[in-house]
Amino acid sequence: MKVLVFGRTGQVATELAKTEGVTCIGRDVVDLSKPSRLHEFLRNVETDAIINAAAYTAVDKAEEEPDLAQAINGASVGTMAEWAADQNIPFVHISTDYVFDGSGEVPWRPGDTPGPLGVYGQSKLSGEALTLNAGGPHAILRTSWVVSAHGANFVKTMLRLGAERDRLTIVADQIGGPTPAADLAAACLHVAKGLVADPGRSGTYHFAGAPDVSWAGFAREIFAQSGIGCEVVDIPSSDYPTPAQRPLNSRLDCSELETIFALKRPDWRVSLRTILNELGALADG
Ligand code: NDP
Repeated sequence: MKVLVFGRTGQVATELAKTEGVTCIGRDVVDLSKPSRLHEFLRNVETDAIINAAAYTAVDKAEEEPDLAQAINGASVGTMAEWAADQNIPFVHISTDYVFDGSGEVPWRPGDTPGPLGVYGQSKLSGEALTLNAGGPHAILRTSWVVSAHGANFVKTMLRLGAERDRLTIVADQIGGPTPAADLAAACLHVAKGLVADPGRSGTYHFAGAPDVSWAGFAREIFAQSGIGCEVVDIPSSDYPTPAQRPLNSRLDCSELETIFALKRPDWRVSLRTILNELGALADG
């Protein structure tokens, strides 16, 4: 099966690129901030499915660049979805827990009412709406807290800071499921294949690693597995103000993906070992 992936150097795109039949398109080929350029590019494409792993992911900076975030996460996604619908091929689009407002403690179900707290979440929600409107075979996969051995992410930040300091204060009131990019990439491919076989499984789904944990708890596990002796002190989000507000409750109920596509939540603690090993940072590796 031929799969076209938007994104090349990103965390998920890097993992997708490891699979045969996948062609990754970086911003040097198509700059998604210019949706008209995307139209032109798609004219010559032949593929069996599209996975969109590209996004404007700078959550805080998005507050200052709403038009850019909207062009990449909204308008361009709409163009991809419409093109895929015209070809009658699956469009798998990755979205985010940040479409929710983070209230309560119950895991969010795909049908729950979104309420993004910032520009990034709003732009991703707009991409979701345009995907639905296109009306073709599709899956919107909402995920959370993506980590891998590549790019900038929480694991790499903790390894750097943990090596420099004896004690770190980390937010303990935001709870979510860390999601290894390799597991997410495999899920995207599995869903794309599933939609080729049965487009009737189109819909919005959640996919996140288990168990749910706070950022502080996540940091403790990173330090335990990497043998870094850095103390983690719990703080509330209010002690760590950021330009964009983050949802407190990022728990995602992933049961529909398991029922429809037989995909279980991966244990992020197992994948964390693989990531640390890749980074040469595993204590007993
Ligand atoms: P990264 O930030 O690691 O990668 C972003 C990708 O988007 C890169 O491949 C980059 O292209 C591409 N991109 C950004 N701007 C443009 C542009 N103007 N034109 C073309 N391509 C562009 O993202 P992740 O892999 O972490 O995220 C994958 C998906 O998961 C995204 O949809 C994101 O919203 C979602 N998500 C991520 C979370 C996280 O914690 N990271 C949490 C929840 C959801 P290039 O390869 O050329 O640099």
